Formats: sequence, C-alpha cells, structure tokens
Amino acid sequence: MTLELPQTFLAGLFGLLIGSFLNVVIYRLPRGQSLVTPPSTCPGCGTRIRPIDNVPVLSWVLLGGKCHKCRAQISIQYPLVEFVTGALFLLVAWVTPAGPLLAARLLLVVILIVLFGIDLHHQILPNVITLPGIVIGFLFSLVGPPGWTNSLLGIALGGGILYAIAAAYYLVRREEGLGMGDVKMLAMIGAFLGWKAVLVTLILSSFAGALVGIGIIAFTKGTMRLALPFGTFLSLGALAAMLVGDPLVTWYSGFFVP
Ligand SMILES: [Zn+2]
Repeated sequence: MTLELPQTFLAGLFGLLIGSFLNVVIYRLPRGQSLVTPPSTCPGCGTRIRPIDNVPVLSWVLLGGKCHKCRAQISIQYPLVEFVTGALFLLVAWVTPAGPLLAARLLLVVILIVLFGIDLHHQILPNVITLPGIVIGFLFSLVGPPGWTNSLLGIALGGGILYAIAAAYYLVRREEGLGMGDVKMLAMIGAFLGWKAVLVTLILSSFAGALVGIGIIAFTKGTMRLALPFGTFLSLGALAAMLVGDPLVTWYSGFFVP
C-alpha cells in the first residue's frame, strides 16, 4: 500500500525542508564546519538569514535571488537543491509502499543529493557518508527489499567492479583515474538497492558521463583537461536505477528470453 494523496504531498513538503538542510550539509561538511551552528548568514554581508527569508524555494524567488539587506547574489543552487529534494520525496513516496522500504529510499535520496553536490564542488566523496551508508543500507535489507543476500552481493559487486577498474587504470596509466570514494559509493548503492541496480547504475552513469564529457570536449575544442566527478554521475544513475530500474531490467532481459 502506498501513501494516501495528502500524505504524499506532506512527504514532498517535508522534502523541501530537508533540502534546505542539505544545502548546509553540502556547503559545510567538506569544509569541516559544524552542521548545526552557527545559523546561516549571507555570504556577502554576514547578516543572519531571517526565518522568513529561509522558506524553501519561495524566499529565493520572492527576493529575486538576492540578500534582503546587501542585495548580494545568492546561488540558484540553494532553491534547486530544495526543489529537487522536495520533488524526489514526492515521487518516491508516491511509488513506494509505506514501511521500511520507503524510509530506506528517502534516506538514499538524501545521501545521493549530498554526494552529488559535494563531489561536484570538491571532487571528494566523504567516508563519513559512504561507509555508514553501506552499513545502513545492509541493515535496511534485513527488513525489506532487496533482501540481505542481494544487498551483500550488491556491496561486493559495486565495490568489486569499480575497484578492478581503478586498479587496471592505475596499472596502465600510472595515475589515479577513479578514486576509492567512487568504489565505496557504488558499494553503498549496492547495499541499498541490490546487485542488479549496481549494473543499471554503472551503465547509466557511464553513459551520462560520456555524453557530458563529449559535450565538453566539443564545446572547448578539447583544450579543457577532463576531470569529471564520477560520483556526481553515480548519484544520477542510482536515482534512475531506484525509480525505473526494475522495468528497465525486465525490458532489457526481454531481448534474451525467447
Ligand atoms: Zn547580504
């Protein structure tokens, strides 16, 4: 049984508020700052942000993306993260039966958004997120899909594939192409979603990464040294795998079953 319509919308509103906090996490966690104190201030003038100016998405739109005091520009990243978190909470709550699976998936959404943002800005995937994520994903699998054996296979396959690729790349090129952060992140995705989703995630994120990479090479005529944050693409791939992975695997397997 999925949630009733009013609860589904509440989940979306809850997601908007969570998104507001995720902005703080994305900014402060890689800088080693506390996530709770001090309260948010304007990066331009240091004025404390009033609660009225902290309403997700709405405040940014009403203030035209500027600080109410000094008119400094406030990045569109803030309302975007809030909107995307709200929309994904709504979507996941709409299609997932209520229970431990819903809790696990909302938590995974939160983790993937944070890793997306941090990897994009800093090219790191903090252990303090990915390692507990592997454990929590496995614990959830004890009480719901994908089941604990599938979860363990997901951890082994996710970590194993990327570790093998990273090792092979290093042997050939003598430089690090894939970080260990990517290895741990895909193991975590496997812990939450199982081994099939690992393959779907890997295929989708490699494809998306290649498309963006080709686009950048075309636009900059190959002058830009490419260092795409793979964790950012893994986030997108895992979200897609979570939302449409099962139908995708069924459709694809259809080609091989007579
Ligand atoms: Zn200001």
